[in-house]
Amino acid sequence: MKTAARFDHYRVLPGAKLDLSKIDQEGDGKLDKDDAKALFEEERASIIASQEKLYAEGKQSLLIVLQAMDAGGKDGTIEDVFRGVNPQGCRVSSFKVPTAEELAHDFLWRVHAQAPGKGQITIFNRSHYEDVLVVRVKNIVPESVWRPRYALINDFERLLATSGTRVLKFFLHISKKEQKKRFESRLADENDRWKWSPGDLVERALWDRYEEAYEGALGECSTEAAPWYVIPADKKWLRNAMVAHLVAAMLRDMDPRFPPPLPDLGRVKIPD
Ligand code: AMP
Ligand code: MG
Repeated sequence: MKTAARFDHYRVLPGAKLDLSKIDQEGDGKLDKDDAKALFEEERASIIASQEKLYAEGKQSLLIVLQAMDAGGKDGTIEDVFRGVNPQGCRVSSFKVPTAEELAHDFLWRVHAQAPGKGQITIFNRSHYEDVLVVRVKNIVPESVWRPRYALINDFERLLATSGTRVLKFFLHISKKEQKKRFESRLADENDRWKWSPGDLVERALWDRYEEAYEGALGECSTEAAPWYVIPADKKWLRNAMVAHLVAAMLRDMDPRFPPPLPDLGRVKIPD
């Protein structure tokens, strides 16, 4: 698969042994704020135009997976990057603590059901990766259960890829310092307070263990068919520009086309 050359060095290589504490959350400084904003607007327009064709063509699908620590910017990325996309062909699926019914099935059951149909873009706000992240950090299941899931996830994503679904996965990488700042402003802002959960502090205390779990998941499950990107996410304008570019580049590579018009359309007469 052809990938966007521009941010290709942010792609996790299959089997990579990542050390997230050594990966900068601010980016490499090659894109300044003005250029990032210009790129973002250009790519947002490109996404809107491509998605219309994807929907009209009705043959291919795109799945975008978003994962991050709390306040990492998953909601904001969805709001910003997909603003203006026709909701008819685009859906967001959010994965919460599994229900009793979901827990009565295998961990991919609820996820597979939300995969995009032909012509659709689906954005996963959290995903099946929670089953090798929170589940590992909180010891919800033993290692003998979560570790084999890496291979099951790779098989599942390969199944999607072979069935006409492209998969792009973004880890929005924020620093612990930035999380503190965002939590503080979340608590201070009456329009944002509802997002606060006391559990957020419990998760924050487990920061290092989450980092370790992310390193495992990203290294083991970044594949040719479904690559992971580590997006420096402390600066929202950089995060937005990078995600928009990578999504737009993927859609350009998919190259959806409007279906050809029926023959003799010029001769159709609409009766009064
Ligand atoms: P939020 O995205 O802030 O609404 O929070 C959703 C919560 O559901 C997070 O704390 C996730 O870790 C949790 N969650 C999502 N999927 C799973 C899962 N498979 N097992 C346990 N917890 C999960
Ligand atoms: Mg939350």
